[in-house]
Amino acid sequence: MRRLFYSEIVSFNCTFRTVITKGEAIHFTKSKFGSIFDRNLDIQLIKQKMKLIYTLVLLTSLLYTNAQTTLRLNSNIVLPKDSIESKALITSLNNFLISARKSNQENKFVFESEKIETLILLDELNGIERSEKFQDIFFYKPYLTNAVLLNDSSYNVKVSYIGINDNEALLRANFEFIAHKTRNSFTFSSPLLLNTRNWKTKKTGNNIFHYQNTINLKKVNEFNELTSIYDEKLKSINKRVDYYCCENIIELQKLIGVEYKLDYNGRTQGIWSSKLENRKLVILGNDNANFNEFDPHDLWHDRLSLVIPRKEVNRAIDEGCAYLFGGSWGLTWKEIFDAFNEQIASEENTNWIEIKETPIYFKTSGFSNSADYIINALLVQKIEKEQGFSGVWEFLRVGPSEKGNIRYYEILKKLTGISKATYNKEVWKLIRKEIR
Ligand SMILES: [Zn+2]
Repeated sequence: MRRLFYSEIVSFNCTFRTVITKGEAIHFTKSKFGSIFDRNLDIQLIKQKMKLIYTLVLLTSLLYTNAQTTLRLNSNIVLPKDSIESKALITSLNNFLISARKSNQENKFVFESEKIETLILLDELNGIERSEKFQDIFFYKPYLTNAVLLNDSSYNVKVSYIGINDNEALLRANFEFIAHKTRNSFTFSSPLLLNTRNWKTKKTGNNIFHYQNTINLKKVNEFNELTSIYDEKLKSINKRVDYYCCENIIELQKLIGVEYKLDYNGRTQGIWSSKLENRKLVILGNDNANFNEFDPHDLWHDRLSLVIPRKEVNRAIDEGCAYLFGGSWGLTWKEIFDAFNEQIASEENTNWIEIKETPIYFKTSGFSNSADYIINALLVQKIEKEQGFSGVWEFLRVGPSEKGNIRYYEILKKLTGISKATYNKEVWKLIRKEIR
């Protein structure tokens, strides 16, 4: 049986290994150039051949320093006419993809002036070669499928990640990058800025909204007001956030350069973000092309993440703040608390220390909510009332949850006088007070 198209692809890696490692290939190259010198041929031709030798030597050394080459080429692909440029593009792309296996910050092949826009795409590349099913960390291989010259210094390049199993080609993802020429090599960016270059923008405070047609100004103002309230609590200043308003996750992915990714098959909505120093980039792919909606709960998490990495704060306390300040799933704090009261607090024997270790949940409009988050909301409310937000800030920085939550109870006692021994009794008091 004839194998599929992609089994015919000649690997870039293998093509050059032939030249580098096989004795006869090197011999052939040498003898061919020897005959050129003997016959004293056109000097122009010699220059061209020397250029080729130089390129091969350069490429060979690059390949040796990068033992793990990855990019594969379809032999029919149309590459830049200039062979030096073509090889520089392929080598740089190869290095960019290899670097994408490591942390985003280590990738030296990212186009510096569009770094935050590219980080969001690098998140999608991370782990792309791995297949759990086939127990292979390099199962999906990258194939260059197109390289189109956009102008004198940039190309649009497309890469597909494909794994072959039993003569069957399995597509994991199609990516699109912009390759920017810098001296003799290339750096890469997401096509986000290029794709949205004709979009409109609305700046409000330090938030910049990017949209295609119209934007709901009333919602933008509401959003700005709540942002200011959160930022004031967090003493957060000069943080710039760019929001791109999209219809759905399909549009979101297309804008940033993910043409297809198996992982999101069938999914309609999503919100993706990236962060770099004082900037954050948020792409709204949740039926929000005109910014008619925003979630005050998630906005809390977003603003907090601008001042401290979320992994450094206590998750339950962070959620407690988000529920108290922004409700959840479109419901207000009061509506959420009533549901908690009906479904959880109605059980008189509930032990609040135990639910901290083994969470229990209650439902609101089909969504699950952790009861412990509501208890933390009540504690945050008490601390903020008695000591201002600086007390809540100290509480948040208890750090990640650990078995037994020793540090959590230690700081709680310092802030409120509530110890682990009195926790259950005091939490019941806070619940009864909130019911009234
Ligand atoms: Zn949350």
